[in-house]
Amino acid sequence: MDIPRRDFLKTTPALAALAGLPPAAGAAETPRLGSYPYLGRTADYAEFRLIESGLTIARVESWTAGSYGFVRVTTRDGREGWGQLSSFEPDITATVLHRQVARQVLGSDPAAIDALVDRVIDANMKFPWSYVCRALAGIDTALWDLFGKINNKPVCALLGGKADPFPVYGSSMRRDISPADEAARLVRLRDQFGYRAFKVRVGVPTGHDRDAAPGRTEQLIPTVRRALGDAILLLVDGNSCYTPPKAIAVGRRMEDHGYFWFEEPCPYWELEWTAEVAAALTMHVAGGEQDNDLAQWRRMIRLNAVDIVQPDLCYVGGFTRAWRVARLAQEAGKRVVPHSSHLAPITVFSLHLMAALPNAGPVVEFSIEEDANANERLYAPALHVVDGKVKIPDDPGWGIRINTAWLEQASYLKSESTT
Ligand SMILES: [Mg+2]
Repeated sequence: MDIPRRDFLKTTPALAALAGLPPAAGAAETPRLGSYPYLGRTADYAEFRLIESGLTIARVESWTAGSYGFVRVTTRDGREGWGQLSSFEPDITATVLHRQVARQVLGSDPAAIDALVDRVIDANMKFPWSYVCRALAGIDTALWDLFGKINNKPVCALLGGKADPFPVYGSSMRRDISPADEAARLVRLRDQFGYRAFKVRVGVPTGHDRDAAPGRTEQLIPTVRRALGDAILLLVDGNSCYTPPKAIAVGRRMEDHGYFWFEEPCPYWELEWTAEVAAALTMHVAGGEQDNDLAQWRRMIRLNAVDIVQPDLCYVGGFTRAWRVARLAQEAGKRVVPHSSHLAPITVFSLHLMAALPNAGPVVEFSIEEDANANERLYAPALHVVDGKVKIPDDPGWGIRINTAWLEQASYLKSESTT
């Protein structure tokens, strides 16, 4: 019999003892399933049951155009919910939706959404995360809309939240703007819309310590603070730019000027780098917008790589999975501010999540690069900032309707249950 020595010793503790070796670590312990919470659950996680069992998902449809994609899920008895595919490359995402995701949910009961979402991940083990999660987000968010419509409540109210106005921060996406011009436009927006928080950009995305213009970051930090005064909450996004020594130096300059968080200081996959920065700085470190593997989320949180967790509801695979990230954060005493960098429905989803979360941060991200009126071409009612806050749509579900004119010019695909 030819047994590798290592396996032989592991499976024969008596012989191992004869050889003077201790038994293999953990060999005597029987694992308890409850000790292994799966796919981002906390130990006390309660699965969602927001509607009665008995419905069947009969149809999944998608519409894509430009940067956006929407999904409609329809049950056999004709009930429907609308969701959003993750933005950017939505045509690729829609292909993944209909080829690899829809077949996992067609014919299923939507009531057990946790199991449904996990099945999509399990079934796509050879295609983990990015596009599968981007596609899953469309179905998951459509099902939450369905749950709200069946219960005649806005999504946040399904979870005990209220659709009241919620504070937002004005999120700049620009690096091609001088510190003086950036400060001037933020002052104008503060005066026009009552923003009490803003985020600006430093460095260059995955920039290996480079800056967008010589000295821009060092000038931007004090210039924006001086222009807006001390009463405004200021945030900075590094978009994966820095090595730890440079990130810590930039962070110290921000601390000198009272900035609240430093987002994604290091390449986000270098968790240990980000943890080093978080340990060195007194200001908060924020991050996680790109992360869609819930085990990686658990590691990020346990490593204290971030103080503020920022799941993107669509990158991470939908509301259900973002909720799990929020519960992991709550368990660790951390707060949540989702990534919602444009004014498509994802910002509506983020507002509902924040209204329902016990560990919501103080603000929701709200892009200042898009005109909310222009966004009415996508859905209604559009979001508007009044006195620094946005009213959360309070009709059942997400509280919005995708515009027919937009749908009519979009590319359409459909998957249907054959049973
Ligand atoms: Mg960011």
